[in-house]
Amino acid sequence: MKYIDEFNDPDLARRLLDEIHATVTRPWALMEVCGGQTHTIIRHGIDQLLPDAVELIHGPGCPVCVTPLDVIDKALEIAARPGVIFCSFGDMLRVPGTDRDLFRVKGEGGDVRVVYSPLDALDLARKNPDRQVVFFAIGFETTAPANAMAVHQARRLGLGNFSLLVSHVRVPPAIEAIMTAPECRVQAFLAAGHVCSVMGIAEYPELADRHRVPVVVTGFEPLDILEGIRRAVRQLERGEHRVENAYPRAVREQGNPAALSMLEEVFEVTDRNWRGIGPIPASGWRLSETYRAYDAEHRFDVTGIRTEEPAVCRAGEVLQGLIKPTECEAFGTACTPRTPLGATMVSSEGACAAYHLYRRMPGGPAQRGSRIPREELNTVG
Ligand code: SF4
Repeated sequence: MKYIDEFNDPDLARRLLDEIHATVTRPWALMEVCGGQTHTIIRHGIDQLLPDAVELIHGPGCPVCVTPLDVIDKALEIAARPGVIFCSFGDMLRVPGTDRDLFRVKGEGGDVRVVYSPLDALDLARKNPDRQVVFFAIGFETTAPANAMAVHQARRLGLGNFSLLVSHVRVPPAIEAIMTAPECRVQAFLAAGHVCSVMGIAEYPELADRHRVPVVVTGFEPLDILEGIRRAVRQLERGEHRVENAYPRAVREQGNPAALSMLEEVFEVTDRNWRGIGPIPASGWRLSETYRAYDAEHRFDVTGIRTEEPAVCRAGEVLQGLIKPTECEAFGTACTPRTPLGATMVSSEGACAAYHLYRRMPGGPAQRGSRIPREELNTVG
């Protein structure tokens, strides 16, 4: 398949790996920001093919995982109300709130629907004028423009029965928080290519310069990841800290002007709480004053809901790269995809889900905590 197969080419993967092995002379720790990149890395065993000196730390880039518990509880409260149609992408339905999830609400009679786009929810609002339709608007800079477009359309069409429950987050403030944490070990970042396809790369040079970290904008296929690692390691070995775009087939320096102007029109920057991590200043978006009437938190008066994270779940440490999922005592025992204790176990981009799916074999590398020799592995692709 065009643009997929050529980025899984085993010969090219071997050449990139050889170059990485030849370049590395000392230990380096790189963080891939996006959960989609984490899944590619774990699924293809990329971390196990690298030199022992190169460690990949999984970052907080899974949008479902970082949505705070109180927002999940607000979603559950709204979804259970009579007369509400609550719309969400499918991977939010199994994310545990304090005492239930959206599937449970649906089973108990709530009208919870999986949609593929916020515009599907808008369509439902048009067809059901006597119902309140709420879309669960979570995610990073990638999903925000479509959600902004939906609420912009609702206002233009005069649809008073449509609203968004917003929990959007932004990557650069998260990088800032990671770099200023006392326990930070990250020396370079593989930035999320899809975020940069929307936002461009203008926010990163100042971060790279101030923290003296290379930032390589990286895609999601195995060769994209290897190329991102190759460039990051080359910069580290040379003592450089620049922003490089290793995903030019999708990312332009200025981003997507139409998406940026829609974001500017509908949202404003706000502080956000990240699940398991805590508050990060200016790390999210909320609806601007012009669109505040479409904010489900206010419409359904759930702003006061506050919750405590369950102590047993160590997702916060996983999301900051402080532990690997397999170091959580509950991994694969009390916590599985069928009995999740945290969002990182159910999200399709969650690190715990990736390790459970690809690294759970008895006596396998997850349990041994060691690397499989390179020659024993299927090659990338
Ligand atoms: S394995 Fe489960 S309990 Fe442990 S950090 Fe991951 S989601 Fe939380």
